Amino acid sequence: MATTTFSENSAMSDASPETTVSEAEIAYRIGNSLYLNITNRCSNRCTFCPKFADLSLKGHNLGLASEPTPAEVLLAVGEPEGLDEIVFCGFGEPLLRVDAVVHIARELKQRGYRIRINTDGQADLVHDRSVVTELVGLVDCISVSLNAADATTYQRICNSPYGEAGFDGVCTFIAEAVRQIPHVVVSAVTVPGVDIDACRALALKLGAEFRVREYQE
Ligand code: SF4
Repeated sequence: MATTTFSENSAMSDASPETTVSEAEIAYRIGNSLYLNITNRCSNRCTFCPKFADLSLKGHNLGLASEPTPAEVLLAVGEPEGLDEIVFCGFGEPLLRVDAVVHIARELKQRGYRIRINTDGQADLVHDRSVVTELVGLVDCISVSLNAADATTYQRICNSPYGEAGFDGVCTFIAEAVRQIPHVVVSAVTVPGVDIDACRALALKLGAEFRVREYQE
C-alpha cells in the first residue's frame, strides 16, 4: 500500500487553478439540493475532473482559501426550507474530513434534513479504518464514484494514490455501505474506454443502485 497520508487539515493535495478565493461558497444551492463545499482536496486525481481547470460550478465559485470549520459550515447552511437533501460534495473529497462530516451531519440531522455524501470511496484506505460505521444514522445516501469495472482501468482514469489497490478499496467501501446505509448509488462517467455495462454489473453485484454520468470534454 502507498504511504500517502491525508490528515484532516493537511495542505491541499491538488494545485488549485486560479480562482477568486475570497468569494468561495461553502454552501451552494442547485435546484432543491444544498451542496456543501468543505474541501478542495482529493485522494484521487481523476483525468475527467473539471476542478483542475476551473473550481467553479454552474456559477458557484468553489475555490476555498481555507477549509471551513464545522461551525462555519453550519452557519453557511442556516435553516433553509424546501430542500430535498443536503449533499457533502466539494469540489473535493468530503470524507478526507470525516470527523467534520460526522459533526456537521449530526447537527443537520437534528434539523431534520436528508443527508447524502458524494465520495470516491477511498476513505477506509485514507483513514485506515472502516469509516461507514461512523456515518450510520447520520447519512441517508452515499453516492460512490466507481468509474471502472477493473483495477487497471480504475487506476488509469482515477490515479489513486494507492495504485491498483485503490479499486479493491472502493469495492469494499461500497459493499460495507450497502450493508449499513439505507441508499447507496454507484456511478460511472462515460469516459472513452470505460465499459459501462461492466460497471453496472459490478455495482449491482455489490448491491448498489447504478447511475451513468455523461462525460464532457
Ligand atoms: S474524486 Fe471527484 S473531485 Fe476528486 S479528482 Fe476525482 S472527480 Fe474530481
